[in-house]
Order: sequence, then C-alpha cells, then structure tokens
Amino acid sequence: MKYNRLGRSGLKVSELSLGSWVTFGTQVDAASAAESMAAAYEAGVNFFDNAEAYAGGESERIMGEAFRRLEWDRDSFVVSSKFFWGIKPGVNSENTLNRKYLLSAVDASLDRIGLDYLDLIFCHRSDPETPLEETVFTMHEIVASHKALYWGTSEWNAEEIRAAYEIAERHHLHKPVMEQPQYNMFWRGRVENEYKRLYEDYGLGLTTWSPLASGLLSGKYVDGIPEGSRASLQGYEWLRASLTDPEKNKKVKELQKVAEAIDATLSQLAIAWCTKNPNVSTVITGASSLQQVQENMKAAEIATRLDATHMEQIDQILGS
Ligand code: NDP
Repeated sequence: MKYNRLGRSGLKVSELSLGSWVTFGTQVDAASAAESMAAAYEAGVNFFDNAEAYAGGESERIMGEAFRRLEWDRDSFVVSSKFFWGIKPGVNSENTLNRKYLLSAVDASLDRIGLDYLDLIFCHRSDPETPLEETVFTMHEIVASHKALYWGTSEWNAEEIRAAYEIAERHHLHKPVMEQPQYNMFWRGRVENEYKRLYEDYGLGLTTWSPLASGLLSGKYVDGIPEGSRASLQGYEWLRASLTDPEKNKKVKELQKVAEAIDATLSQLAIAWCTKNPNVSTVITGASSLQQVQENMKAAEIATRLDATHMEQIDQILGS
C-alpha cells in the first residue's frame, strides 16, 4: 500500500481507504464492520470515511463500536465525518452549514463515534444560504479546538473552494485541505478538468468516492439486478437506471479484456484506475462483505501492473 500526502498537508493517507455509506447500519452490523475494517487495516488502509447522515447516525455508532473492538492505537488511523444534511428536523438542523448547526453536529458525531477528535471533517455539500465567511470561520474554530485536525469540502464547485480558501488565507485561518468528489471511469469531469487549477494553486488533496460507480464497474449489473445488490435495496431505487444502463454495461463488458490482461477482476481494475490519477490522495472503497474488501484491497498491487497502454485502451473503451 502506498501512502500519499493529503494535498499540501503533512498527513499521509493510504491510497485505498474504506467508507461506510449504504453499508454500515443497512447491510453490515458492528461485528461484520469490525471484520471488514480489520481486513482493510491489515492490507495497509489507515483511513476510514464516515458521515453524520449515513444511516441516520447509525454508521458512526457502528464504526465507533468497531474501533473499540479492534483496540487500534488512535495514532494509527484517520477517521472522518461530514456535515450538512443533519439528522434531526429543525430550521437550523438540516441542509445548513451555519455556525449553530456545525458546532452542535461535530459534538454529536464525536459522541456517537466515541472518540475525542475526528481527523478530517467535511462540509458535505455547499450551503448558499449561509455566508461563506461564517462557515469558514466555524470550520477553523473546530480545527483550532482540536475536535478535528483538518477540514475540507465535498462536491463543492471550484469557485466555492477557491473562495473558501481565499477567506481562510486572508484571515490567517486553517484552510480547507481536501475535497471529496465522485471519481470513477464514468465520472471524470470535476477531478480531471474543473479542479485542475486548485491542485496547482492550493495543493488541494482529494479523497474520492464511488470508485465502482456504486457497483456498476464490478460487472454485476450486466445481466440485470442481482438479489442483495445495492440496486435491489429499498431506498436506492434512484440508482437503478444508471446501474442497468445498457450503454454503460456494454463498456463494462469490454473492460473485462483489460482486466484479464493484467490478471485482475473488473472491480480491481476500476479501483486501480482511480489510483493512477496523481491528484487523488486516497480512493475510498465501499464493500457490503468481507470478501469484497479482500478482493478490492488487492487493487493497490494491481495498479502497479496498469501501464500507459492499458490506460489508453481504457480511454478508448470509455470513449474519452
Ligand atoms: P463503490 O462505487 O465502490 O461501491 C461500493 C459497492 O459496490 C459496495 O457496497 C458493493 O455493493 C459493491 N462492491 C464493492 N466491491 C465489490 C466487488 N469486489 N464485487 C462486486 N461488488 C462490489 O463505492 P461507494 O459508492 O460505496 O462509495 C465509497 C465510499 O465513498 C462510501 O462508503 C462513502 O464513505 C464515500 N462516499 C461519499 C460521498 C460524498 O458525497 N462525499 C457519496 C458517496 C460515497 P453491493 O454488494 O451492495 O452491490
């Protein structure tokens, strides 16, 4: 496993990490979560991604329970949470990045996860109804109070990230260090084009999500929706059209040839491909079973076999 600096910060994160969206609290209980996290940790993973909103707070509780079972040295792992949507009703408790919400949300998250501090905190989306100054000052204060070590954004546009960074710089505040955007073979624009100048100007780090496009790139949807898969879950019907898209699944079938050429599974190829982008600090993988974690972690080694010719073949298949 390679360790990359998180952008311009001194923090090093494993090139593959493990997240808990959809899985923890819905498909995976505390015992299985601990098993999956242990397998990832043994493979060299040091970053575990979470968010307040995942399973309405249950995902943080489960990850916290897993940390207690695993008894790892707190210095050996990095854990995140994200804030914006909120998990209780109220005008100042939902869809906001205002000071009142953020300060309360971080405390509640620490309570659920049972830790003294989070390593990374993210503004899970942008909030046009709160002045950016208010959000930036509050994120700075949370970091200054040691409840978190670094802060960043998730799915903010380049202009918003630039504005936040400039406010922090102007007032000598802790700056946003990282962004968490979607990045996979079918979703490339933001990471490869929109953020380009941010890497140069601010050394923006990236913790990217959905390397398998929610499982599409594993090849499991080429013949329809398998039982137990994400697309079959109640509440995730909105993913079905994209996961069963015939054009995309045709491309997935063609990618199989490249996977075979490097002796990899489709999932391993898709995850390894994300690590090849030098601006990606860590690829957050997701898994509903221990077997998937074990398969996916091998992508770190498989990435060393993916050369420029394979990358060109992939671009041709994807039509990009
Ligand atoms: P992926 O796109 O990699 O999808 C993971 C899902 O694909 C698994 O839960 C599983 O679903 C299936 N899968 C994984 N490995 C395999 C395999 N080897 N073979 C077959 N199927 C497999 O990642 P996620 O969408 O889960 O995102 C990863 C993480 O990123 C999240 O946990 C979260 O931490 C973060 N994230 C952040 C977001 C943000 O807004 N900041 C948004 C979304 C995610 P199944 O078995 O159920 O079909």
